[in-house]
Amino acid sequence: MGLNLVVLVKQVPDTANITGEAMKEDGTVNRQALPAIFNPEDLHALEAALTVKDQYPDAKVNVLTMGPPPAVQVLKESLYRGADFVALISDRRFAAADTLATSYALKCAIEKIGNVDMVFCGRQAIDGDTAQVGPQTAEKLGINQITCVSEINGIDEGKKTVEATRSIEGGFEEVRSGFPVLLTFTDEGYIPRPPSAIRMLAYKNASTDVSSEDFDESYMDGDTGVNTNLALWDIEAINADVANCGLSGSPTKVKKIQSVVLTAGDIKMVENTAGGIAEMVHDLIADHTLG
Ligand SMILES: Cc1cc2nc3c(=O)[nH]c(=O)nc-3n(C[C@H](O)[C@H](O)[C@H](O)COP(=O)(O)OP(=O)(O)OC[C@H]3O[C@@H](n4cnc5c(N)ncnc54)[C@H](O)[C@@H]3O)c2cc1C
Repeated sequence: MGLNLVVLVKQVPDTANITGEAMKEDGTVNRQALPAIFNPEDLHALEAALTVKDQYPDAKVNVLTMGPPPAVQVLKESLYRGADFVALISDRRFAAADTLATSYALKCAIEKIGNVDMVFCGRQAIDGDTAQVGPQTAEKLGINQITCVSEINGIDEGKKTVEATRSIEGGFEEVRSGFPVLLTFTDEGYIPRPPSAIRMLAYKNASTDVSSEDFDESYMDGDTGVNTNLALWDIEAINADVANCGLSGSPTKVKKIQSVVLTAGDIKMVENTAGGIAEMVHDLIADHTLG
């Protein structure tokens, strides 16, 4: 059997296109007002896995997401780009999951796939922004992790090792790890490939091979029947303990949400000369901003 790869991807609100309606009155994100997109760094993680598959054609690229039914869109986009198998982990009992409950569910799903060599994640999701899910999932699986990877430099299939370059403050570090290993990717090293038109035609009506009571199949656009490359997994399907999922598995409690509005103070133009900068430094010392 070839390399067995898993990519974790998340559907996120497009926080780069925030408008006035993007925040509700209580300060929480109005998800309906923002377009849902593929988390940008997850596209780079997927590209890294597909690049490995280009080099090792018998490798299998499995893509997992935990989310509500519309999150199936990022799975379809993964199929369009070259993934072999995708699964939506979706169940009302996963609702209100914090990062601990999210990584627990992802760990259970990775174990369901079994015999995984490498897990690929984005470094950070642009909505939650914690960068915790990758490292927590590795911890829960009890496997090695290499974070902030820009590029995979080589894989030794026989020795079951991978060498990768990771970004560190002020430079790069080259690291080798044995399998199984989880890698989190930045957006520095890979350019995500566009979806393939042929694969889009093949998968645009993809539907699930498993149904769930809570699941609205209409999200799958599925009228052409079952597609075994796309699965829907609920809590039972991934053998998860309900107590560790959703709200009951989430020790984080949000005490208060505050909108921070930055208002501009006085503007002072500084001449781009040695004299202008010296004057600015002098003023900053005089008002005790510096010194
Ligand atoms: C108290 C609390 C309650 C919350 N309640 C809710 C809620 O009710 N509904 C809700 O939608 N969110 C909720 N969240 C947010 C949710 O916990 C996070 O969105 C989620 O755990 C991922 O964390 P993150 O966005 O910081 O991801 P990061 O840790 O920044 O993500 C890193 C990488 O992990 C992978 N990853 C992250 N999340 C997923 C995923 N779901 N599936 C697959 N891969 C993933 C991706 O590769 C991603 O690039 C809550 C958070 C807290 C703290």
